[in-house]
Amino acid sequence: MIRYSIVCFFALFSFNVSAETCAANPVALQILGSGGPTINKDRASTSYLLWVGPQAKMLVDMGGGAFLRFGQSEAKLADLSLIALSHFHPDHVSDLPAFLWLSPYLRKESLPIVGPSGNDLVPSLPVFLSRLFDAKSGAFQVLGTSMGGPPVPGVGGGVLLDASVVDVTKAEPSKVYDKDGMTVTALAIPHGRIPALAYRVEVKGKSVVFSSDQNGSNPKFVDFARGTNVLVMHLAIAAGTTNPIHASPAVVGKIAQEAGVGRLIVSHIGQFDLDAAIAELKQSYKGALTVGADLQCTQVN
Ligand SMILES: [Zn+2]
Ligand SMILES: [Zn+2]
Repeated sequence: MIRYSIVCFFALFSFNVSAETCAANPVALQILGSGGPTINKDRASTSYLLWVGPQAKMLVDMGGGAFLRFGQSEAKLADLSLIALSHFHPDHVSDLPAFLWLSPYLRKESLPIVGPSGNDLVPSLPVFLSRLFDAKSGAFQVLGTSMGGPPVPGVGGGVLLDASVVDVTKAEPSKVYDKDGMTVTALAIPHGRIPALAYRVEVKGKSVVFSSDQNGSNPKFVDFARGTNVLVMHLAIAAGTTNPIHASPAVVGKIAQEAGVGRLIVSHIGQFDLDAAIAELKQSYKGALTVGADLQCTQVN
């Protein structure tokens, strides 16, 4: 009987989470995946949607589980103006093939996609995409049309990708999108030796910054995030710990405080004592704070 009650509780909880819609705000940020790389019963891996009115215009990352969350969000692939990939760790990109498979049934226009340049450890965006989708040599040859390959009768394909690369050796921000009143800039951020990008989007006089995975040691990121309405930062490691590729909770709080953001949303949440991590973060950050959850929607104001 007790077990039955618990099952019912979680079923109800799941239903309530998935029922949240983000389409009713002028500008809103929705978390599709609030977790990190480890298997988690409640959190998909990293992914975010930026809604402008009733349309989801920008998808940031597509980690494991985000494919389902995108469906639950009721966003439409045809509405997207841009996919922005932060880096090529699997918890940020592994659902991309599932997302693109059979996408020509949902969208005719090509789909702009932006991501980082590569190094000896990680491919650049074009190499990453061609290793996945090239019609002759890709792992998913059936998605060859995503790379401009010819349609094959009886093979579903994927919508054509319009890829642009950001050179991560560049110290200053790069404009990666500027159309229909939405501007997106990217900044290289320190994530060990993995080329990685943070993104800032400005639309309808509002702004959101996506920190992605980083250790917080680049002071230019504080300038990049300065004064933004919403800053999404990754709370990847526990209180009292340090890591060469991820910022500690104390550093996350310090960056948000120094940048003077309107609201900090923590996401990419690891499986540790969350209360202790938040307490550490709050020692330096005194502003509005949201602890991220899958499908959570935050109006940007
Ligand atoms: Zn990650
Ligand atoms: Zn990472």
